[in-house]
Amino acid sequence: MKTFDVIIIGAGSIGVPLSFYLAKKGLKVAVLEKLASEGRGQNRAAIGGIRATHSDPSKIKICQLSIDILKNFKNEYGKEIDWVQGGYLYPVYDDATEISLKKLLGKQKKFKLNLDWVTPEKVNELVPGINNNDLKGATFSPEDGSCSPLKVTGAYLSLARKSGVEFYFNEEVVSIETNGNKISTILTAKEKYSAEIIINAAGAEAKEIGLLVGLNIPVTPDSHEAGITEPVQPFFKPMVVDIRPDDYSLNYYFYQNKEGQVVFCITPKPPIVGKDIDNTSEFLPLVVKRMLSLYPRLRNLRIRRTWRGLYPMTPDGFPIVGFTKEIENLFLAVGMCGQGFMIGPGLGLIASEIIADKSNKYNFITEQLSLYRNFSGVEMLK
Ligand SMILES: Cc1cc2nc3c(=O)[nH]c(=O)nc-3n(C[C@H](O)[C@H](O)[C@H](O)COP(=O)(O)OP(=O)(O)OC[C@H]3O[C@@H](n4cnc5c(N)ncnc54)[C@H](O)[C@@H]3O)c2cc1C
Repeated sequence: MKTFDVIIIGAGSIGVPLSFYLAKKGLKVAVLEKLASEGRGQNRAAIGGIRATHSDPSKIKICQLSIDILKNFKNEYGKEIDWVQGGYLYPVYDDATEISLKKLLGKQKKFKLNLDWVTPEKVNELVPGINNNDLKGATFSPEDGSCSPLKVTGAYLSLARKSGVEFYFNEEVVSIETNGNKISTILTAKEKYSAEIIINAAGAEAKEIGLLVGLNIPVTPDSHEAGITEPVQPFFKPMVVDIRPDDYSLNYYFYQNKEGQVVFCITPKPPIVGKDIDNTSEFLPLVVKRMLSLYPRLRNLRIRRTWRGLYPMTPDGFPIVGFTKEIENLFLAVGMCGQGFMIGPGLGLIASEIIADKSNKYNFITEQLSLYRNFSGVEMLK
């Protein structure tokens, strides 16, 4: 039996940064991962967008922290993560979207988010050549940005290892034993583990981990596709998010990364529930048509690769974070939906304070993101 202070199940967008922050607090931490290395679950499917412009205080706070961490990452830790602070731009072409985004803007500003309504001229400055027909303006948040999910998780892995975290790859958690209302033993095919605190950070498999201890955690994955072009000189700055739905998609978004490649993604309508990660032939015709109509300058770019991954969705689009009532040493950091990459660093830091320092500072987060909420809310910018 290997014994630790904390065991994290899942070396993904959430588990790897969290392991580092816990180890920095002096805890003895192990991470159990069923795949061969870090970030091979949904972390590698993420396109790299990082924003604090959400519609609720918890995610805003978590992601503001993520941005602070990531923009200083290279200076602080000497590791390149391809951070680009290009902002997020939501261009608006119709009255209904203008009304709803302006309404949300008022709410977001109360949380001290740096974002504003900008004119069509400003939109053209940020995205030269964008379709101007009926363009009414946009909301723009200049402090948001992007970085490489592979580099961020790789960097955290090496920092975590240096801080003493032990990673066990190719070890799937297959069974969990309890003693009263506490987890006593975690079993993989190779080994038995025990710890004071167990963290479920199993992403799209969070529900299955819950079921091992009789807990029903409402995380249901759905499939999303993305693609990347060849690199070219930088020609636009922000992540462009078009939230107008059409017959087959709810929205789509794209940006140019530090290497000059345009990375893009679409939200299918209706959602494709399940764990299918095979590429489809429908994705490119659908997304390319929409992207070219919004931004004709993309037309000469060659697409290098497409892929498909999963959003670990919850019924209301918000994550689930905090200790469970039924199993007192089980902490949940699951249900990250389409934002787990941007949530990872900030949540890692916050959860380390909750777990190691028993801090009450973030009670507003664990209350809002509790497993025991009624899940009837709706995240407007999920
Ligand atoms: C196309 C696409 C684009 C996206 N773009 C963005 C974006 O721009 N920005 C953003 O913030 N998010 C984005 N996301 C969402 C993001 O990828 C996820 O929210 C995030 O990766 C979830 O993090 P996680 O740590 O919960 O899960 P993961 O990163 O999947 O980590 C969970 C880990 O747990 C492991 N695991 C599961 N079961 C077990 C077990 N029984 N034993 C041991 N290990 C186990 C898995 O193998 C996995 O490695 C995107 C997702 C997709 C599909």
